[in-house]
Amino acid sequence: MNESERLAELGREFHKRGWVLGTSGNFSAVVSRDPLRLAITASSLDKGQLLPEHILEIDGAGHVVGQTQGKPSAETLLHIAIVNSLQAGAVLHTHSVWSTILSDYHMGSGGFFIEGYEMLKGLEGVRTHEHREWIPILENSQNMESLAAETRSALQENPGIHGFLIRRHGMYTWGKDLTEAARHVEILEFLLESVGRRQMMEPQH
Ligand SMILES: [Zn+2]
Repeated sequence: MNESERLAELGREFHKRGWVLGTSGNFSAVVSRDPLRLAITASSLDKGQLLPEHILEIDGAGHVVGQTQGKPSAETLLHIAIVNSLQAGAVLHTHSVWSTILSDYHMGSGGFFIEGYEMLKGLEGVRTHEHREWIPILENSQNMESLAAETRSALQENPGIHGFLIRRHGMYTWGKDLTEAARHVEILEFLLESVGRRQMMEPQH
């Protein structure tokens, strides 16, 4: 299965899980490093209907190259920023209910910790539930160049993180390849929902 087929399949699966409803979310995978080429979802497509022909190939500046045609996702620059900053092989962006709520609730602190959960061990390099995972939150913006710059700063200031949130918007995570990135979506979405539901029980904490 090539990158386009895998990205389309992930989109349909994540849609069923409620993480990329409607046209929300976008996904990319590195096809080559030098020169940089990314397979990425085209803009404004229903993720429940995503097909391999909806995946575009772009260069390191975000321009469409090769045989594919269409408009790349509006958030293409964020994908490129993450790939270049971390040498990630795949970047996945979801718009789940829990990432939307928690990114708003904790904005004042610039982020929040997730700690003590067994599921943290699903994050690459984490060996114990005692791990403390910092989830930074960036302010939302429609200016993708400034949001990409904020992303680069956040990744530099928070080495070792596995994902971040954008306020009232959603989550970004990544991995060395699509398999690892998809696992990080599953793990982080589980953890965000757990943290959110727990806080509803004891909202003072
Ligand atoms: Zn988004």
